[in-house]
Amino acid sequence: MRSVLVLGGTAEARELAAALDREPATRVVSTLAGRVARPRLPAGEVRIGGFGGPDGLRTYLRDEQIGTVVDATHPFAERMSASAHSACERAGVPLLRLERPPFAQTAGDDWRRVASLDEAARLIAPTGRRVFLTTGRQGLAAFADVDAFFLVRCVDPPQPPLPRDHELLLSRGPFALDDELELIDRHRLDVLVTKDSGGEHTRAKLDAARTRRMPVIVVARPPRPSGPAVATVGEALAWLRRHGGG
Ligand code: NAP
Repeated sequence: MRSVLVLGGTAEARELAAALDREPATRVVSTLAGRVARPRLPAGEVRIGGFGGPDGLRTYLRDEQIGTVVDATHPFAERMSASAHSACERAGVPLLRLERPPFAQTAGDDWRRVASLDEAARLIAPTGRRVFLTTGRQGLAAFADVDAFFLVRCVDPPQPPLPRDHELLLSRGPFALDDELELIDRHRLDVLVTKDSGGEHTRAKLDAARTRRMPVIVVARPPRPSGPAVATVGEALAWLRRHGGG
């Protein structure tokens, strides 16, 4: 019996857990941070809540006799990835990073790339007046003092401080192009702000922005810890067959 720990919170993590759960002699445990009120639960065992930093994760790996870890967290879940890297290295447990490719820019896109939410906030005034803000509910304080209207879309209600002039849209996706176009038109939005999360579930907003010739401020991914990485669930399963004791 092999035990695989999947650090989750993404669609890819759920797909991987479902595939591993179907494999013989495999125990799969998925973990979630516990931030979302009603998370989509993966197949197999699920553990909700943090480990208490790298030391806590290292203890967990030992106590649960985890043979391999797949860090399938969101590209912006920087602390969890750093913690996994440190804990696995010290525990001698193989770690694979599963990370979807960034969004691909195509002809007609007007993208302005920035390194942080703060930089995105500074770029709004010279770019637009009515903002479609889709960076998630964390870090919205960066936009609190920006003089513009914000349509803030996220999964769960964010904590203040929020932009002074805003409307909140709680929605999880996936989103369709026609619905994104309708939102842009109804709210007369003229700039989109997004993280470079990648993936198909939230891609439609970028296609809608291109269709409406709307500029997009794209927040770059944070740097990753070193180590083996794959971009698809299929590649992760192949890697686990080679390295995961199964
Ligand atoms: P983060 O800043 O990297 O993590 C903060 C702390 O939360 C971690 O140190 C860890 O606590 C705990 N944690 C995070 N992910 C966990 C997981 N999968 N399992 C168990 N504990 C976890 O992460 P975040 O940006 O807040 O994201 C939290 C979760 O939401 C992640 O699972 C991520 O995949 C998902 N998500 C994030 C974004 C985003 O934009 N950041 C978007 C969509 C989904 P301990 O130190 O106590 O272990």
